[in-house]
Amino acid sequence: MEFEPVIGLEVHAELLTQSKMFCSCAVVDNTQAAPNIAVCPVCSGMPGTLPVVNRMAVEIAIRVALALECTVNRTSIFARKNYFYPDLPKGYQISQYEDPLAVNGKLAIQTSEGEQVIRVRRVHLEEDTGKLTHVERDGKSFSLVDLNRAGVPLLEIVSEPDIHSAEAAHAYGEALRAVLRYLGANSGDMEKGAIRFEANISVRPKGTTELGIRTEVKNLNSFRAMDRAIAYEIERQSRVLSSGGTVDQETLGWSEARGATYSQRSKEDAHDYRYFPEPDLPPLVLEQDWVDRLSKSLPELPHAKVVRFISQYGLNEYNAWRLTSEHELADYFEKAVDQGSPTGADTKLVANWILGDLFSLMNQAGIAIDRLKVTPQSLAGLVRAVSTGQINQSSAREVLSEMFSSGRSAAEIVEARGLSQVSDESFISDLVRQALSENPKEVASYKAGKVGVANFLFGQVMKKAAGKANPQVVRAELERQLLQ
Ligand SMILES: [Zn+2]
Repeated sequence: MEFEPVIGLEVHAELLTQSKMFCSCAVVDNTQAAPNIAVCPVCSGMPGTLPVVNRMAVEIAIRVALALECTVNRTSIFARKNYFYPDLPKGYQISQYEDPLAVNGKLAIQTSEGEQVIRVRRVHLEEDTGKLTHVERDGKSFSLVDLNRAGVPLLEIVSEPDIHSAEAAHAYGEALRAVLRYLGANSGDMEKGAIRFEANISVRPKGTTELGIRTEVKNLNSFRAMDRAIAYEIERQSRVLSSGGTVDQETLGWSEARGATYSQRSKEDAHDYRYFPEPDLPPLVLEQDWVDRLSKSLPELPHAKVVRFISQYGLNEYNAWRLTSEHELADYFEKAVDQGSPTGADTKLVANWILGDLFSLMNQAGIAIDRLKVTPQSLAGLVRAVSTGQINQSSAREVLSEMFSSGRSAAEIVEARGLSQVSDESFISDLVRQALSENPKEVASYKAGKVGVANFLFGQVMKKAAGKANPQVVRAELERQLLQ
């Protein structure tokens, strides 16, 4: 029997605010800061303290909701989600439950099967927990609590179960991360836990519509972990159902080392959290005027850019999606092609050079687009040098590699290394004349209609020029002399 996976994703994104969600403590980089330096009575859960909502967090959340084409609720309610954990000093998390900030959005994704739209069920604000570190010292094992992260604003974005493969889940994660980064809402830094995924996964016999029993895989902190965990669960659940068993509804963890999910606890239902409206906070009421202003302030978003790049620059869908994955990259591309300017270069060639050779240099060196020494203008210079035949493709690779490490321009490097192909017409004309007089038989057969022999003659001329002649000029001159 064949099974169809049904996947919904919950994404937790830390918002890029200066201060925490309900107090004025600074948001610090947890990988750099000493433990417990950004903590106050509010975020450490002292009795008698009162939360105050961070206006900037609400503003960023509204912008994300609008970018996901959600309906932003004029009134939303903060709620207490009660559970005990050592990194949760209050014994509850302030979240939103029945009346979230925004609902009913959507996000376009690109997979090998083309473009697809995933519905977004809800977007709500909440606060992050602290962080536990489990240590072994002097033969004793214990846990350390760091509350720097407790109370950092979190946005939870929940999709509808519209995702049907690990590939689509990955694409959704990437597309959402791109939107968050375009808006400056989130750093996108998964290694630091700034975005975390949870996947609800079930499978059902292909062709049926009823949802199967789902498992929830928690704390997927990298795309690799998410891809592998989803693939594993699809496989596992399909095997269970094929052998006549039933899938248990439970919460699972993912072990990167074992490459397997493992049971954490039987799945809690919402009622286990005893949600109730947060008595210390009034309903969050938004002025329509504010929402309208935020709506007008949105930048051009990734999907709009994809559509524009396809129509304006004639790119294929795949390249358009890749070039718009980060707005710095999209800007870089647009500066390099700079249409209407004499310094701009051919759009498709620029796209290929960026996504091919430049990306591979960047990956090898671990350098992001905003740290590149190769300016868009100098990349355009390189692309023009290739397309006009001033240098050949393999020299161009060499030149780019040096541009990448030294930041020098293509023209300087071509000059210094003597890579320039000769375009001088009288020089090339002489070479062609020599080649033709040395190969009279081939010339005769060309004139008898075997035009393919021109390639052989072209090779002879290039050999004489030791690869230094501009091939376009050679071809033109060869044709001119053969037709005389
Ligand atoms: Zn605080």
